[in-house]
Order: sequence, then C-alpha cells, then structure tokens
Amino acid sequence: MSHRVKILKFLKEKEGKYCDDCLSKILGIFPRQQVYQICKILFWKQQIYRKKDKCFGCSRYKIVNWISSKEIKGGIKMTFQSEKNGKDSICIEQLSSDEFENRVKEYVENKFGKKFSEKSLQVGPDKFHKFDFSIR
Ligand SMILES: [Zn+2]
Repeated sequence: MSHRVKILKFLKEKEGKYCDDCLSKILGIFPRQQVYQICKILFWKQQIYRKKDKCFGCSRYKIVNWISSKEIKGGIKMTFQSEKNGKDSICIEQLSSDEFENRVKEYVENKFGKKFSEKSLQVGPDKFHKFDFSIR
C-alpha cells in the first residue's frame, strides 16, 4: 500500500482531523516531510481538507488533514498560497448563508456533473488562487 493510500484510508476510517506529525507517527511514514508533501498534493487535488484546527491525535491547534463530506457545512472558502519559503498559508473566508448556499449548490453541481476548473488563477505577484467552488 502506498503512503498516499495509507493516509487516505486512515483519514477515511477515522473521520478525524490529524496533523502531519501524528499521521507520520501513527502510520509510520518517515520523515514527517513526506506526509507533508503527500497531504499537500492531496489537498491540491481536493481529496482532503487541510486547515488549522485541533488535532485528534495530539490535541494541538495546528494544520490538520481530514476527509468528510459533512465538513462542507462549515461554509468556508479556502485559498491556498504557496510561498517561496515552502510554508503554506491558508486564508479562510467566512461566507454569508446565501453565498454559502450558492457555493454548495455549485459545488455539488460540479461534483456530479459540470466541469470543475483546474486552472489556477493568478491574483497577484506569486499569488495563485488554486480553486474555488464556482462554475466557469
Ligand atoms: Zn497531531
């Protein structure tokens, strides 16, 4: 089983939020950077969620990874920026309930029918808006 599958399987089974450190320890994937690399790619591919929250493993408040269709309830839009120093910064934008309804509708439509744009949009020097839930 590849590390990628291991991580996905674990997150799916646990339905919990786990930081890179805990995933590394629990799944025996070393060095920890490997977990980071895999999770970053899974996040780009929208196979997992990745943002700051309480880790189910170590209970610390840090960047955690999880899979859950229920989590869409949070009504958040994530913007991923890759910085030159290699660190990730994730901006969370709260939406009004109407905006959120539309987003979910669009998201579901995208998920089950219409094409989901994979093109990243440049929004500033070295800033790329990786994806959102809108239809293009
Ligand atoms: Zn942890």
